[in-house]
Amino acid sequence: MLPIVHRNTGWIEVICGSMFSGKTEELIRRLRRALIARQKVAIFKPKIDTRYSEDHIVSHSELKIPSQVVENAWEILENSLEAQVVGIDEAQFFDNDLVTVCQKLANMGKRVIVAGLDQDYRGEPFEPIPQLLAVAEYITKTHAICVVCGNPANHTQRKSADKDRVVVGAADIYEARCRNCFEPPEKDNNGTIKLKRSSRENTKESSQ
Ligand SMILES: [Zn+2]
Repeated sequence: MLPIVHRNTGWIEVICGSMFSGKTEELIRRLRRALIARQKVAIFKPKIDTRYSEDHIVSHSELKIPSQVVENAWEILENSLEAQVVGIDEAQFFDNDLVTVCQKLANMGKRVIVAGLDQDYRGEPFEPIPQLLAVAEYITKTHAICVVCGNPANHTQRKSADKDRVVVGAADIYEARCRNCFEPPEKDNNGTIKLKRSSRENTKESSQ
């Protein structure tokens, strides 16, 4: 899918999708191939995500690769001057400065591979991924499998009632759902989000 020959140019690849869709596995696969080719690789993740390890990127399937933890996007730039390939996981936890940093790295001739969630638990685009998709040369959308019906899943269903946009967790708090089975939280009249009980049951009742 990716062209084999790039001459004197960098580029941006984005791997995005719901939780449990294999984004980190795909990122690790690409980075390992670069390491096998003895390319200089620098790998980063945001400080917020230390679910599995402080100094590795770890997939849900327990693949792992060494990484540096950074507080913000600019630290990625500072720490990848020597690198030919730059890998960034959990990109949704950075702010929009990540877009500027990725552009600078690609303009310097580096291959930049970014993985992250493209939607939050409400099904809303999760910055800075939409902005990265717009400027990336290559986009891979990964899919999980809906735990309810088995269709390809594009959404991340939060199972807890937390209303913060960022609640770090795994299968204890989240599961993958398809478009039909995804139940986004409803907003009440004050604009406050409340959790829907079951949209499918509601639909069933109203159609009877
Ligand atoms: Zn489904």
